[in-house]
Amino acid sequence: MIKAIRGTRDLLPPDTELWNFVESAARDVFRSYHFSEIRTPVIEDLSLFQRSVGEETDIVSKEMFAWEDRARAQSEKGQWLALRPENTAGVVRAYIENRLWERPGLQKLYYIGPQFRRERPQKGRYRQFFQIGAEIIGPPTAGSESPAVDAEVLEMLATFLDRLGLTGWTLELNSVGCPDDRQRYNDALRAALKPVVGGMCADCRRRAETNPLRVLDCKVPEDQPIIEQLPKILDYLDEPCRQHFAAVRAILDAVSIPYTINPRMVRGLDYYRRTTYEFTHGALGAQNAILGGGRYDGLSEALGGPKAPGIGFAIGEDRLVLTLSEHQRPKLTAADAYIAPLGEGMNQEAARLGRELRQAGLVVDLGDESFRLKKSLELASKTGARFAVILGENEAKSGMLALKNLGTGEQVSVPRAELAKVIAGS
Ligand code: AMP
Repeated sequence: MIKAIRGTRDLLPPDTELWNFVESAARDVFRSYHFSEIRTPVIEDLSLFQRSVGEETDIVSKEMFAWEDRARAQSEKGQWLALRPENTAGVVRAYIENRLWERPGLQKLYYIGPQFRRERPQKGRYRQFFQIGAEIIGPPTAGSESPAVDAEVLEMLATFLDRLGLTGWTLELNSVGCPDDRQRYNDALRAALKPVVGGMCADCRRRAETNPLRVLDCKVPEDQPIIEQLPKILDYLDEPCRQHFAAVRAILDAVSIPYTINPRMVRGLDYYRRTTYEFTHGALGAQNAILGGGRYDGLSEALGGPKAPGIGFAIGEDRLVLTLSEHQRPKLTAADAYIAPLGEGMNQEAARLGRELRQAGLVVDLGDESFRLKKSLELASKTGARFAVILGENEAKSGMLALKNLGTGEQVSVPRAELAKVIAGS
């Protein structure tokens, strides 16, 4: 038997009802903040992720599905491709390639789609997972650097989670400053790590050399007391970054969005500048981040585009659905009516009647003329239909249809023209 590959899974009904509920709530909420949808390709040039997410990050160094794609024709070149591990890089590439900066104001874009990382699968962690994300990006003259933009994004996220009825989330907030701050902080980290790194895990020993900031991501329990004692990035922000962060917090206070400052949260992608954040939820256990995001001023330039500061987030939809399903069992919508055609030739009549009822807005299942009535009624009941409509030759001729309420067992005769109204009204 061929099975779904490791780390991927089928999303089945009724769970997909919950996924659709989450996605339509996202579309609704994002619309009221004037976001529009963008869809970028699932495959991209590998170098896009190397240059944005960063070579030294776990995502790029260990988790990418990448391959050398051979040319199919002489007119093509072979190239290294990758399944996207995240979507911000693709959105910024699309912003540059499609010259979106020429459009007025800020670009407020959201996406919903699968992402791919070759991680060790566990609850809440998959190799194909889904993200709902959004970005605000644009020229500084349109206000893209403003702390008001950061606060708007965070307030929108709180609104979205509240709309889903999700309680008990925590917003963890930090600023990772600008490149100069990071440089000074990296130097301080290197110095602080020097005497202690020998006792840390192999990853930390490597990162202490290549990218000391990533040491803060370490999850190895024995390393935590050492990490707690390391310098904090918030003490290394320059005055503009400090003021920017203070302004973001002041707006969040003004709109009553609670948050906690987590100076260790530097996020696993290199492109972040200034504000970074995660929303976490206790119900998720080890993989407790529902979403993460931050500002990425400088990313567009790094990819060869114009200056286009921006901020965004990616919600892990799999985890969000997991949290919701703790207290919200998805239910399949039941059919309003099951049409039971009786006797040869009646499938055509059933198709006509089905069309009428569906045009009137009802959810309709069709039986088959070869089924005996008993079988049709059993099937209708088992699948949870509210009514069965019995459609034999007599009913078709007379225009009086037999309507059986499958909840009460009561059966009445209803004129065809009134059928939809009667079903919808009860
Ligand atoms: P990131 O792009 O790493 O900032 O991740 C943003 C969010 O995506 C995380 O907070 C998770 O909720 C979700 N996520 C990341 N990786 C995975 C994965 N392998 N499986 C499921 N969800 C993931």
